[in-house]
Amino acid sequence: MSPLLEGKRVVVTGASRGLGRAIALACAREGAAGVGIGYRERAGEAEGVARAIEAQPGGRALALGFDVTDAAAAAAAVERFEAEVGPIDGWVNNAGAVATGLLVASDVEQLRAQLETNLLGPMVCARAVLPGMMRRRRGVLLNVSSVAAVRPARGQAAYAAAKGGIEALTRALAVEYAKKGVRVVCLRPGAIDTEMLGATRALAGDEVVARVPQRRIAAPDEVAGYAAFLLSDRAAYVTGAVATVDGGYAVG
Ligand code: NAD
Repeated sequence: MSPLLEGKRVVVTGASRGLGRAIALACAREGAAGVGIGYRERAGEAEGVARAIEAQPGGRALALGFDVTDAAAAAAAVERFEAEVGPIDGWVNNAGAVATGLLVASDVEQLRAQLETNLLGPMVCARAVLPGMMRRRRGVLLNVSSVAAVRPARGQAAYAAAKGGIEALTRALAVEYAKKGVRVVCLRPGAIDTEMLGATRALAGDEVVARVPQRRIAAPDEVAGYAAFLLSDRAAYVTGAVATVDGGYAVG
């Protein structure tokens, strides 16, 4: 069987580390013809991911520094990638941030920042990448949600609301762009071993593991493989769907 993403070009936001890095590397392993490594602050790490991809035979990657909430910067990143690497077939809205705090103890600026990073950012990026996909009548937009959307922990009101929003956004965009040949899908991970989870575990300790029926945290690669499948033509009939990869967290 040919690699899942042979000949495809994929951009992943927040790909200097964590799940985004794992998705970018998985896309390259699955034969992608070009991978965009979106990052906001850690240029050196993003360049490192790009170099690791380029070191593989046929590997092509480009590090793209931009904040996902900045419309002009997102548009410029799309333009640059398409000029230097080629048309974008897949875009992964992976960048995200979690800030915990009870709603009444959070100030409005903290709430606004959570919604901007986790919900407005993906909408801003979708606005930048969808027109090209529609013109070419092909493309996949993959949004990254969280089990917090359906089973939030205490102190996650803004994060959970934003992640619930990205799931609704997935359904809305799937309906809007299906006729244009664009699929819009969502990946809903559970607990993954990244810096983000490290912060949650520092607060909640082993409670996190105790909530997972499989009693373990996933490696980023276990989730990244599923992302590559959703981006591929083997998932051609999947749109508007939320794929849960969580060791049973949402149902436990
Ligand atoms: P992480 O903190 O390791 O990585 C997040 C990345 O997003 C970082 O590279 C960061 O710089 C980037 N980012 C944040 N705000 C940005 C902005 N405004 N513009 C551009 N980049 C920005 O976290 P992770 O665990 O790898 O998270 C990846 C995704 O997976 C997030 O959407 C997160 O909500 C989701 N998720 C993670 C877990 C988990 O357990 N780790 C569980 C469910 C969902």
